[in-house]
Amino acid sequence: LFITFEGGEGAGKTSIHHALSQRLSNEGYDVLATREPGGIKIAEKIRNIILDPLHTEMEEHTEALLYAAARSQHFFEKVLPALNQGKIVLCDRFIDSSLVYQGYARGLGMDEVLKINQFAIGDCMPDRTLFFDIEPKKGLERIAANKNREQNRLDLENLEFHEHVYDAYHILAERFPNRFQFINADQPMEDVEEEALRHILSLFKE
Ligand code: C5P
Ligand code: MG
Repeated sequence: LFITFEGGEGAGKTSIHHALSQRLSNEGYDVLATREPGGIKIAEKIRNIILDPLHTEMEEHTEALLYAAARSQHFFEKVLPALNQGKIVLCDRFIDSSLVYQGYARGLGMDEVLKINQFAIGDCMPDRTLFFDIEPKKGLERIAANKNREQNRLDLENLEFHEHVYDAYHILAERFPNRFQFINADQPMEDVEEEALRHILSLFKE
């Protein structure tokens, strides 16, 4: 079972991803927790190139191709073997982030970006995608309040960019209604975590 965590900045994806991985493991489920871009040595190096705050000159096609390259390595080296072993894979961001950030918000076109990703990983899509839904303005306020968060190049983007990201996730949710599950991320973190956990556990009963 392949479950991805998606959403804009400050939605709580990463914290909840950590917490749920731990809780599901403790309950005896065989879980692989991983993240994008990164998750393995080569892809973490590519991540550092992409997100370096000093790389302000990075061209958007370059960015999209680097994400796809990192995804390919991570998928074949780590995700696919785990799925083949029957594990539950929880991945913090995946292909939808590329469609949304590079395809829509940076204007490359969602279908164009889908094509390079199909080259990178074939037709493999997540079984379920949890979309952590919070208005961009509120998400950015959460980030501003979190001093521990590492700076990245996206911190230079304005609110309008993040609103485009948010709109694009809704477009994808309409396109893939069976895969997308909305999680209300505009509530205390414990409640977001419970809602996400309930949904994941419900998948085992299907
Ligand atoms: O998930 P995380 O917050 O670690 O992502 C790091 C940064 O990369 C974020 O600012 C995110 O918006 C950005 N990103 C992106 N395009 C992607 C994936 C992530 O711009 N395809
Ligand atoms: Mg995160």
